[in-house]
Amino acid sequence: MGIRQTEGRQRLYDSVLDTIGDTPCIRINRIAPAHVKVYVKFEAFNPAGSVKDRLALNIIEAAERDGRLNPGQTVVEATSGNTGIGLAMVCAAKGYPLVVTMADSFSVERRRLMRFLGAKVVLTPRAQKGFGMYTKAKELAEQNGWFLASQFETAANADIHETTTAREILGDFENERLDYWVTGYGTGGTVSGVARVLRKERPDTKIILTEPSNAAIVSSGYVNTRNENNQPTESHPNFEPHPIQGWTPDFIPWVLQEAIDNQYYDEMIPVPGSDGIEWSRRLASEEGIFTGISGGSTFAVAMKMAEQAPQGAVLLVMLPDTGERYLSTPLFDGIEEDMTEEERAISMSTPSAQMAAE
Ligand code: PMP
Repeated sequence: MGIRQTEGRQRLYDSVLDTIGDTPCIRINRIAPAHVKVYVKFEAFNPAGSVKDRLALNIIEAAERDGRLNPGQTVVEATSGNTGIGLAMVCAAKGYPLVVTMADSFSVERRRLMRFLGAKVVLTPRAQKGFGMYTKAKELAEQNGWFLASQFETAANADIHETTTAREILGDFENERLDYWVTGYGTGGTVSGVARVLRKERPDTKIILTEPSNAAIVSSGYVNTRNENNQPTESHPNFEPHPIQGWTPDFIPWVLQEAIDNQYYDEMIPVPGSDGIEWSRRLASEEGIFTGISGGSTFAVAMKMAEQAPQGAVLLVMLPDTGERYLSTPLFDGIEEDMTEEERAISMSTPSAQMAAE
């Protein structure tokens, strides 16, 4: 094998915002069953490290296009992290102040990242769950005339996945079969937007949706009540706190309802968070692909599908973000700071170890 040579992208970028999207689909070589081909669409390649960069860009630009957002106006949103980090990047690049509300149960590195990107982060008590941070954002918007990003209701969410994520998949799989596309949901923007296109352009592709098994709110069949703005008016009774950050809030979002109403998925397969953690670790340590708990969870479901899939089947799995965002979470439990026994033995195995001991 010769030395790698690269040629640049044959373009210069006017803004970091122009680098959003066009994330690569990457083959899994070591941990997938041999009779299928598994690819991951790795959204960590977005400039702020997650799939939500797409949504953040379009929430701001759609509002600019139709005059709902004025120059210098403050943007406010309730978010568990990735949307906030994406919005902070977009607002920094475009010069809008940003206030994010967030339950204090989410990882501290997310808060610090948003603050580093210039946003203000207002914490809400974890006992009030997603509904609490959401109510706070709504109140702040109404009281101050701020622009509420409304990721769970806005048309700007699924639209950007229809015009970017889905088109990228069509382009990359133009000459390849695609038997299964596997995704989880947070707002449902990814599944609703991509499914609009796949159902038309790749009708043979089975769409597999997943949710946490201890918060299987869609599987429960109960649809929570909503107000005239399609915002939830209650916490879903089947919700329980789960470790898959970014997935399944404690209500069925309006953006996701489109996927439910249009039968945009062929199967719903719940997954325990512990399986997601295990597969995220395997993706990192056996494939070199460093994704968060939601990516590991989606991959866990894909591995189940792969077992039953026919010879030669092709699967594409969404990996929404980077694992670097989870250093203080259960994903890193058991990953030591100090040397392990094995590492100490390696250290002791050369002469300089004796010198240190003398
Ligand atoms: N995984 C993570 C880590 C996320 O932050 C999100 C978005 N909240 C998702 C998955 C789900 O994406 P969507 O909102 O498009 O359903």
